[in-house]
Formats: sequence, C-alpha cells, structure tokens
Amino acid sequence: MMVTVEEALARFFKIGAVLALLGALHMLTLLLPWYVVSPDTLVQVYINGYNVLETLALSVVGGVLAGVGLFVSSFMSRVSRVRLVLTSLAIAGGALAALSPTYLLMVKIPRLQVAGNIEWGLFASLFTALALLAVGILAALTRLSEPRYTYSFTGTTASTMPQLEETSGGETTFEPAESVDEGAMCTICYQDVSADDAVKCASCGMVYHRGCIDEWVSLNGNCPNCKSVVKS
Ligand SMILES: [Zn+2]
Ligand SMILES: [Zn+2]
Repeated sequence: MMVTVEEALARFFKIGAVLALLGALHMLTLLLPWYVVSPDTLVQVYINGYNVLETLALSVVGGVLAGVGLFVSSFMSRVSRVRLVLTSLAIAGGALAALSPTYLLMVKIPRLQVAGNIEWGLFASLFTALALLAVGILAALTRLSEPRYTYSFTGTTASTMPQLEETSGGETTFEPAESVDEGAMCTICYQDVSADDAVKCASCGMVYHRGCIDEWVSLNGNCPNCKSVVKS
C-alpha cells in the first residue's frame, strides 16, 4: 500500500489516536483481576495487575510509550520520521505491555507457589498489548511516496521550463533531446543529464536518461512527470 504524504499523515494521526486509546485501555486492565488464588478456605484472593510492582511498572511504561507516540510525532515535520517515531514507540510499548502479564504468569505466580486460575483481566491486558504491537507493525508497513519534483531551474526561462503538473489522460512519446538546459537533472536517478544520452517527453518536455526512462516505461508505461501514457 503506497500512499501520498497527506494520506499518510492522516493515517498516522488515526494510528496515533488508536495507540493512545489502546495504551490507556491496557493500563486500565491493571485494575482488573488477573489471577485468582483459591486456598483451601472458601475465600478467594484476586491478584490484580497493580498488585505486582513489576507488572505495574511494565504496563504503565508500555501504555505511556504507546500513548505519547502521537504527541511526540506531532513535532516532526517529515512524514518518514512520524512513521519511525510512531512505529518504534508502538512496538516498544506493545512489547513492554505484553511482558507485563507474561511476567506475572511465567515468573511471579510460580515463585509464589499458589494454585489458582487465570482471570479475564490477564487476557484483556495481553490482548491490548498484542493490539499495540499489531498497530505498530501496521504503521511500519505503510509505504510512503514523497513528491520527487526537485528539478533544477538554473538557467531555465519560463518558456522552456517543463511543466510540473500531474495531469493524465494524454499520450506521449520520448524522442532524443537536441539540447538540454544547463544543470538539468533526470528525476528518475537524480543525476545530471547531457544532450548525448537525453530523451524528452513530447507532452511535458521533461528530460530523462535514455536508460532510466526505458526502465521506467517498461514498469509503468507513462511519463513520471506528466503521467501521459507512452504510445507503443
Ligand atoms: Zn537518470
Ligand atoms: Zn511527460
């Protein structure tokens, strides 16, 4: 799934909100009974998440980490950094949150040598932790397509300037360019273009290396700049 910067930011905002909600829900599971100890008497003793200091600390740190992702990433200007911050905080938070019930069940209960049953609070905390991890992975899988219009305009007048527009529907061909402006750059590979290996889009006038555009056209069938379809 390839999305534009605006779509990605909107998606990351939603992901951040979901993470904050899941982080808060995970911390609320600390109040639920996680384990019930059934001694010989009729009295049942519940162990809550907050009863065990280690799980309390792990869950709170994990929940907070996931929750602050949106806050921290709101200071980032680049969408790739937003993704990095949200993803790493969500995965770190989810992992810590998942450690919390795991620790209680695998380490604490055996050490206490008590018999009893797992209560639904432990499942709830595990579920919210795994959901945090899953949302973090979802954010990491969002591929970004950033605009690549870094054409150099040095020595280019308005009349010879290629039109930077993303219109589609037209058709075009690529022909060898007789002349290339000083400092012109191939927007596929970002290297300078000279007249001897340059081809020009008949529709928008953008120049590319012959090898670059051949490869591009075989994959996409259009001009990377104006999206005109290349006639075969
Ligand atoms: Zn090139
Ligand atoms: Zn074009």
